[in-house]
Amino acid sequence: MAQPARIQVGEFTVVFLSDGIWRNDGGCMFGVVPRELWQREHQPDDKNRIRLNLICPLILKNNDAILVDTGIGNRLKDVERKIFDHGDGYLITCLQQLGMEAGDITHLVLSHLHFDHCGGLVRRQPTGELVSAFPRARIFLQKGEFEVAQNSTNERLRAAYRHVRECLAPVAAMLELIDGDVEVLPGLTAIVTGGHTERHQVVQVNSLGQTFMHLADIVPTASHMRGPWNQAYDLDPLRTMDQKARYLGRAVTGQWWISFAHDPWAYAARIVNDNGKLVVAESVPAAPGPDQ
Ligand SMILES: [Zn+2]
Repeated sequence: MAQPARIQVGEFTVVFLSDGIWRNDGGCMFGVVPRELWQREHQPDDKNRIRLNLICPLILKNNDAILVDTGIGNRLKDVERKIFDHGDGYLITCLQQLGMEAGDITHLVLSHLHFDHCGGLVRRQPTGELVSAFPRARIFLQKGEFEVAQNSTNERLRAAYRHVRECLAPVAAMLELIDGDVEVLPGLTAIVTGGHTERHQVVQVNSLGQTFMHLADIVPTASHMRGPWNQAYDLDPLRTMDQKARYLGRAVTGQWWISFAHDPWAYAARIVNDNGKLVVAESVPAAPGPDQ
């Protein structure tokens, strides 16, 4: 089996795992951008869906194995599997390709609680029961994200988080709610960006002068590096724009590696500013991978 792609960031190794390919409505993915523009880069199918990835960086150092987000997993009902064109998920298979298993994950950092990021926290057993997918992991989540996901009475938010109780109940004892930027381990920090959700967070690795940042859903594909290209899901797109401009700017000057939650072609990239336009200079191409 092919080994998952990896980069070295100082003393850390970052391996790019994927929970497989899924499809989602292109209009939802690009918000106010007309289809005429986004379809040049993301050809929609006959249901207006575009092909997307579920990228989950696995950050390794000594005996620590920190997974960022968990993809969709295998919990979707048949009707949702059809809508999103996703099967049982591929994350555990990716781990096995590395010679690892779910019990080897020591830390999990969740960018936010949408189903395509936290669905893989649990595995549905043949009996139908949901159990923790990563039984030994400490799970780091922003307290504000947890509270909004559990308690909001707003109709739109309730729909966006309707899966949350199912995903969190089996892992309740493993949750560590954090409030603001937190160094999870020396050199690995969770940073609140907001924008996509009020307490959306990203993960930064700093080691020996090198930097990597998983931008999760503030830059879900390389196409979203453009200021106005933001998801319709963003609760505060202006904040998304500010935050991505800040971190993409630093990524250019600091020659950081950045990675995207959903890019179908590249797990990660180094970028340059080409006359005011951010472009990919070097990338870690996504494996063709099994469509599920
Ligand atoms: Zn997402």
